[in-house]
Amino acid sequence: MLPNRCSVKEEGKDCVNPPEFIISVGTENDEYMLGVTCQRHKDIISQKLNILQNENKIPKGKVKFTNIKAVGTECIRSDPDKLIQL
Ligand SMILES: [Zn+2]
Repeated sequence: MLPNRCSVKEEGKDCVNPPEFIISVGTENDEYMLGVTCQRHKDIISQKLNILQNENKIPKGKVKFTNIKAVGTECIRSDPDKLIQL
């Protein structure tokens, strides 16, 4: 199940926008879903993920944003409680 809200937490507050993109990192062997984001937070998340990758907090690899409307949601799992703190 996809979370029904953007995974971003900004200044301590959860973003309430509906998610528009699935954020994932593609590594050599696998693809990790990190969360979902709304259009507004897409760019800022992309910068934040670069920082997290440099700090080895998330897997290194190519960050991808996939439009949610373009994919089926059935086979996507995620942890809706895992918010991305900006
Ligand atoms: Zn958002």
